Amino acid sequence: MPINLQVNRRVAMFSIHSDPLACLGSQQAGGQNIYVRSLAKELGKLGWKVDIFTRWDTPHKKQIAHIDKNCRVIRLKGGEIGYLPREKLIEILPEIYQGFLKFINYKNFYDLFHGHYWDGGWVAKEAQLQFKKPLIVNFHSLGMIKQETKKRLLKKQNEYEYFVKRLNIENEIIKNSSVIISLAESEKEDLIKLYGCNPEKCAVVPGGVDLKQWGEIEKSKARELIKMNNKNFVLLYVGRLEWRKGIGTLIAATSLLKKEILKLKVLIIGGQIFGKEKNPDDVKEYERLKSTAKKEELDDIVRFVGRVQHSRLPIFYSAADIFVIPSYYEPFGLVTLEAMASKVPVVASNVGGLAKIIENGKTGLLFEPRNPVALKEKILSIYNSKDLKENLISAAYKKVQGYSWGNMVIKVNEIYNKLIC
Ligand code: UDP
Repeated sequence: MPINLQVNRRVAMFSIHSDPLACLGSQQAGGQNIYVRSLAKELGKLGWKVDIFTRWDTPHKKQIAHIDKNCRVIRLKGGEIGYLPREKLIEILPEIYQGFLKFINYKNFYDLFHGHYWDGGWVAKEAQLQFKKPLIVNFHSLGMIKQETKKRLLKKQNEYEYFVKRLNIENEIIKNSSVIISLAESEKEDLIKLYGCNPEKCAVVPGGVDLKQWGEIEKSKARELIKMNNKNFVLLYVGRLEWRKGIGTLIAATSLLKKEILKLKVLIIGGQIFGKEKNPDDVKEYERLKSTAKKEELDDIVRFVGRVQHSRLPIFYSAADIFVIPSYYEPFGLVTLEAMASKVPVVASNVGGLAKIIENGKTGLLFEPRNPVALKEKILSIYNSKDLKENLISAAYKKVQGYSWGNMVIKVNEIYNKLIC
């Protein structure tokens, strides 16, 4: 089917806490950043003019940066320029919106408003109410699920006020949106069941991966580049350092595995935890995890690498024997696709988007979240069976070919076109 190209159609995206050009792997820079950047780039190729508005979070950044010919990132002031935890974002959103209005000179300039997360969704909703153009939203994560997960697993909940405000905002966004794009069917189900969202507003468009970027480096070469002995058995985690990512489960499983796999090494990538510009929340989570690893006498096995530039990550994936994603809650998990494209077998917790991407026993193995014994067993089954390992790798590699950013944008382009005609 021919793709409907758009020339001179404008979309304003709002990705407030996550600048699409930020270095990934810190509190506020992960999947959403890469998703927004890739989506905008691909839409640009189809002729859309895309402006992404984000919060100005670092003094040395320019106000306007070009991703390419058709896509710009525009930074708007919201509070002091510097790091702001997500809970504090609510207060600065009106200032961001005013900055947006000034930037466009109060003109009705865009054909569509596309918000990301509840913060970007709020700003996009304000624009939609003022300029009467369609509103599209990607939540990337839902407040209700996050709150419920924390309540259930942490047993203490000291963010009550934050969640009340966030849920109100999410409900307002849902009410005013034309289409809500979820990356996985599980989020769509949650929107309908928990938020009472009209199913007709819900679309599912899975995230993507740049298939050319991964799986090109030979394992022994990759090991040499990261100074890892070929004899080691390497488990890899890549992602932000956040409690819900379940890195604690991986450390507990490592403790159970150390007698079974003698040359075990665990690489934990993510977190702005080294160098001059550390992120305070990343450092807090790092200290917590490091002390757990120390208590379990895993200092020689578990290595916290800190954040790694996305372009350097293929080396780490290629060097790994198993990729582990042990989240307690995961709306999608782009890292899963990156591992599949890198020909590394995946062991993932059986939650949210992970359970939709991974077919247990075929394209990876799923384990019960927060259960280190279950995780250990899945890792051992791959460690002990070359056949299983190879079968998982080849089925996953085949499956991931359907997840290019190009495929993803065809569907988003269709959604946009329906809304503007
Ligand atoms: N990432 C990175 N460097 C790091 C840690 C993570 O480039 O040090 C990237 C990772 O490769 C992936 C994204 O950040 O593309 C994380 O996305 P995912 O959907 O897995 O998690 P989220 O951040 O949305 O929770």
